[in-house]
Amino acid sequence: MPKKYAVKESFYTLQGEGFHSGRPAVFLRFSGCNLWSGLEKDRTTAICKFCDTDFWGTDGINGGKYELQNLISMVTSLWPEESFSAKKFIVCTGGEPMLQIDLELISALHQANFEIALETNGTLAVPEEIDWICVSPKGGSQIIQRSGHELKLVHPQNGVDPTEFEDWDFNHFYLQPMDGPLLEKNTAICLEYCMKNPRWKLSIQTHKILNIQ
Ligand code: SF4
Repeated sequence: MPKKYAVKESFYTLQGEGFHSGRPAVFLRFSGCNLWSGLEKDRTTAICKFCDTDFWGTDGINGGKYELQNLISMVTSLWPEESFSAKKFIVCTGGEPMLQIDLELISALHQANFEIALETNGTLAVPEEIDWICVSPKGGSQIIQRSGHELKLVHPQNGVDPTEFEDWDFNHFYLQPMDGPLLEKNTAICLEYCMKNPRWKLSIQTHKILNIQ
């Protein structure tokens, strides 16, 4: 039986946050995460309790269980044909995409002329063939992937101090305000932290402001 990839949803949009904020991208959201089941009844006992993403199942737009070539065809079809750019850009996210991404998929995406960005919680090792690695550490989890291009910390998190990541091997360090009822206060906390510690930059979830996916 050929491997099938479980996809929650996939669509063409702008990357909303972090280094590539504002860049058009195909989003490929894989189902499932190793830090929460995705079910509300399990949230209080999950390692990661503040998730605001629906990654459960395969019922979103373009969701489903895909064999490799069908998955490549689907994401390719989402990129605008008239694009003057030779390089397509795909953001693999989740859930935790490293539960499913393998070298075959990476190679097939490269053959289809995609530059591959990954948004991971860092608890699983990431192949170096990925073009852009963004790790977003979650308190209470064990981070394996301590290098990459972008470290994006949702802040504040209970018991998580940004200084503990500063000697990790990343090119960019972002603080992103924790969403929810305290967003305004959390934004002020992040803003002040970045101003005092200029190694860190502020990441705003612009897709929520723009009201796009
Ligand atoms: S690690 Fe990411 S996808 Fe998984 S539960 Fe936390 S925020 Fe959600």
